[in-house]
Amino acid sequence: MMEKIQKALAKYWGYYEFMPLQKEAMECISRGQDSIVVLPTGGGKSLCFQAPAVTMPGLAVVVSPLISLMKDQVDALAECGIPAARIDSSLSSNEQKAVLVKIHDKTLKLLYLAPERLISDGFLEILRKVELSFIAVDEAHCVSMWGHDFRPEYRQLGLLKQIFPGVTIAAYTATATEQVRNDIAEQMRLTNPEMLIGSFDRPNLVYKVQPRKNIIKQVCAVLDRHKGESGIIYCIRRKDVDNMCVQLEGHGYHVAPYHAGMSDEDRKINQEAFIEEKIDTIVATIAFGMGIDKSNVRYVIHTGMPKSLEHYQQESGRAGRDGLEAECCLFYYGGDYGIWKSLMDDMPAEAQKIAMVKLSGMYRYCTGGVCRHKAILRYFGQDINKENCAACDMCLGELDYIEDALATAQKILSCIVRLHQQYGGHYNALVLTGSEDKRIIENNHHKLSTYGLLSDYSKHIVQDWIEQLIGQGYIEKTGEYNVLTVTAKGWAILKGKETPRLLKPAERQAKASTVAADSWDGVDRGLFEALRKLRATIAGQKRIPAYIVFSDAALRDMARRRPSTRVGFREVKGVGEKKCRQYSDIVLAAIKDYCQANSLEMDIGVHPETVSAELQGSKPKMCSKMSEARQLAFQLFERKLSVEEVAKAVNRAESTAIQYLIEYINREKINNPYPWVDEQTFGCIIDAMKQAKGGQMKPIFDFLNGEIGYNQIRISLACLRNNR
Ligand code: ADP
Repeated sequence: MMEKIQKALAKYWGYYEFMPLQKEAMECISRGQDSIVVLPTGGGKSLCFQAPAVTMPGLAVVVSPLISLMKDQVDALAECGIPAARIDSSLSSNEQKAVLVKIHDKTLKLLYLAPERLISDGFLEILRKVELSFIAVDEAHCVSMWGHDFRPEYRQLGLLKQIFPGVTIAAYTATATEQVRNDIAEQMRLTNPEMLIGSFDRPNLVYKVQPRKNIIKQVCAVLDRHKGESGIIYCIRRKDVDNMCVQLEGHGYHVAPYHAGMSDEDRKINQEAFIEEKIDTIVATIAFGMGIDKSNVRYVIHTGMPKSLEHYQQESGRAGRDGLEAECCLFYYGGDYGIWKSLMDDMPAEAQKIAMVKLSGMYRYCTGGVCRHKAILRYFGQDINKENCAACDMCLGELDYIEDALATAQKILSCIVRLHQQYGGHYNALVLTGSEDKRIIENNHHKLSTYGLLSDYSKHIVQDWIEQLIGQGYIEKTGEYNVLTVTAKGWAILKGKETPRLLKPAERQAKASTVAADSWDGVDRGLFEALRKLRATIAGQKRIPAYIVFSDAALRDMARRRPSTRVGFREVKGVGEKKCRQYSDIVLAAIKDYCQANSLEMDIGVHPETVSAELQGSKPKMCSKMSEARQLAFQLFERKLSVEEVAKAVNRAESTAIQYLIEYINREKINNPYPWVDEQTFGCIIDAMKQAKGGQMKPIFDFLNGEIGYNQIRISLACLRNNR
């Protein structure tokens, strides 16, 4: 069975390896054992049931809570050539009848339904007459009252075991504590279910946390790093969403709002514009997200602190579902804590207690000085062994611990005490930095011994340290006005018995995340952009989301391998048989045009034995790590060796060494072509490029009367692209 599944994976999806726990999850279904599979967003849960459904006899029923989720999956399956359908209230009665005919004719492999429809008498009657391969329950945490998204209609799924006693049930979720997991098993009356629990870590997400200062400036900086890419900006309140939209539009960014105060119609229009990539950025409250399967969200910005790490994990987790790098930036302010706290005022006492514990956990995450990946995982009871995750502000060195944390904290705490614990964070920061604010002078607080003790620092930094001390439990905000009081732990600092950790922005240049460097390895960015445009055109014509045509990961693999033949195209990760048949002509033509215009080598890593391997349904893998020759070449280019020298050293043709050099330039973002192109030649090429009006090689070559070779032009253009 697993062999069959593996063949189906290659044939329909163009995938050749399993993601963690996918194989085990599929094995459970194959041997008829119930299962609960907990994998993070982007962990590949859908494939766990889709691949067995294709290979097993009969019809697989998939229970899903939202029409948009069902539609997305059915569209994606159709693109891969798999007969799947959904029945939901958005279909006309004729469309529903057409699906019923297919069920009757046994031509479907997967049927998506909402739980209430599955359990309805009429539908059970239909399904009793059909051979069911198994039942998959997506978003299974909806069955549990302990989960964050309980849906009463999911409770009826407990009847399934009674109605279909011999049919295997597989439940999938991204968020499940042990309590929720056990509840899923119990509520659905699963028989001895296998629990498969993956790591919650999302190594491709780069987490960054900063105190909120000038939020528009901070948000714009993130948007500028992601021009032309999709992203979500979350705000706590509706009015913040509207305000942010106005301000960003004013700065020339094209964004759209989404919140519960808008009409259904307006929300739908904006959601679709985002999914269809007509707009890049959506500004939303947390009402936005559930049911969004868009795999190429490259950034998620939080302009305020969420109320729990569960929420943060879920919302930030909407980035990078395709496994490629994505940035999750959180801008917090101490006041956010107060906003949430006041919103919890009306809660019943017990619920409020739990909510406050979660809120404090979130606050500690913001102000704590540990690896963000570790902090999130620990919260969920897991750990990672990596010393440095290379994918968060802490591990990338964007923040530094200050050396004199104890003395600094003592100055802050003394100031709070000298002010008789009657003032808030802002006021304390003003006193500590020696502000000449009218209130301070009027109150005679410029005469306090703590006045100006931290005058070497900005008010923002001092306020941030106060927040960090609150997060670590040394200070508390109390009363209606959030006045600062020193806790018992805080008094231990004043006595020098405890030392806090305090952070400040690093002065040196932070390291770049290696996550991005790896996933762009060998990819020609210009070609990637050209293919992205082509994908948008195809998606527009077919009226399906771009990421369903090809994922970003597939496009990068195309721009890396640059296949010239169908066989080479089939080697691309994410190109199955149907997509190859449908799109090879148009995509191969685009790749060829681009490579010719830019003198780029094609068929990188394509093996001659591919043809025979493909016929057998498996294929030789391209080494995902850089080949040794390429790696050595990069090191030698780093030492500024010439192309000829590098070619000799790595025992490759000069054309290959040039290719390595271009990859090296792209990867390291080199913008000066010296020593491979001398300054004068580079100047001539820039002039020619301006005259020839564009970045194509041939017109530049012609303009220079053939006096400067293609390789020199190519190297120069690659560097110039990095200057943009
Ligand atoms: P989840 O439902 O767990 O959030 P998805 O099923 O949407 O995750 O999968 C996330 C992405 O990973 C999708 O783009 C999917 O096509 C891709 N994917 C799934 N399984 C594999 C695999 N074995 N190899 C490569 N990509 C995969």
